[in-house]
Amino acid sequence: MAIQWFPGHMHLTRKAIQERIKDIDVVIELLDARLPGSSANPMLADMTAGKPALKVLNKQDLADPARTAIWLAHFNAQPGTRALGLDASMTTPAKALVEACFALAPTRGGSMAKPMRVLICGIPNVGKSTLINTLKGKRSAKTGDEAGVTKIEQRIVLQDAFYLFDTPGVLWPRIIVAKSGYNLAASGAIGKNAFDEEEVALELLDYLRQHYPAAVEARYKLSGVADMTDEELLAAIGRKRGALQSGGKINLQKAAEIAIHDFRSAVLGRITLETPEQFAQWLAAGQKI
Ligand code: GDP
Repeated sequence: MAIQWFPGHMHLTRKAIQERIKDIDVVIELLDARLPGSSANPMLADMTAGKPALKVLNKQDLADPARTAIWLAHFNAQPGTRALGLDASMTTPAKALVEACFALAPTRGGSMAKPMRVLICGIPNVGKSTLINTLKGKRSAKTGDEAGVTKIEQRIVLQDAFYLFDTPGVLWPRIIVAKSGYNLAASGAIGKNAFDEEEVALELLDYLRQHYPAAVEARYKLSGVADMTDEELLAAIGRKRGALQSGGKINLQKAAEIAIHDFRSAVLGRITLETPEQFAQWLAAGQKI
């Protein structure tokens, strides 16, 4: 069963973006570097069509560096699009952002022209508040682990005649294929109550077992995980980590929580849950929901 995620309508967000977009020179979309396809909101692409786009692959410290490079090349090959990787450890991300925006909209900014106006968007938990705080150089915007912390619109002056606007409202993730729903859930982007941990963990392990078997084997001291079924692997993790119920039965719910936690906190290593090719295949496979 696919994840059912109905976060409510996005009337405010849609309206705010529509009102703002005509004055905007560049749209920055913050993506999760571990799931750059699934963490994009297709509504944003529709609403900002024709505007130069800067894709920022955030949390790159958690993602597989080789795959981040593939995603960056993928986005950079699209017309009117540039991409760069960022993470919260970068103390001065502004320089890279400003340079990329000028590269996308070279006629804007500067002494002769109008100020550069940039809109920054991203689904909850992707790290927007963290980035904005770093850009502002002080901890005033609220950051939190909970999806959907409401924010008021704010304008950040990155340099003379360079304005960054935050979008008010919440740009909820939109699950367009089943696999994206699982990846969003595994990453922490959708509410805990909206999914079943065991189901999400099984999907996660299915992917890890095929694409990152060595990381799983090293973490849980297992061997041959590529040949296990997902259920066998989840049970093996539960056994290794002492997730047991009375009578010695494996507590699969607990095992699932462990696997998801280990992915999110990168104790499994730096992992990316999709490549551009795989994401395109999921879309093409017609398991749209
Ligand atoms: P927002 O909902 O998009 O504003 O996301 P937040 O800025 O509140 O960040 C959500 C969570 O991700 C917080 O726990 C942050 O500490 C964490 N986070 C943000 N950026 C990064 C990053 O680049 N790397 C890592 N590892 N964690 C990050």
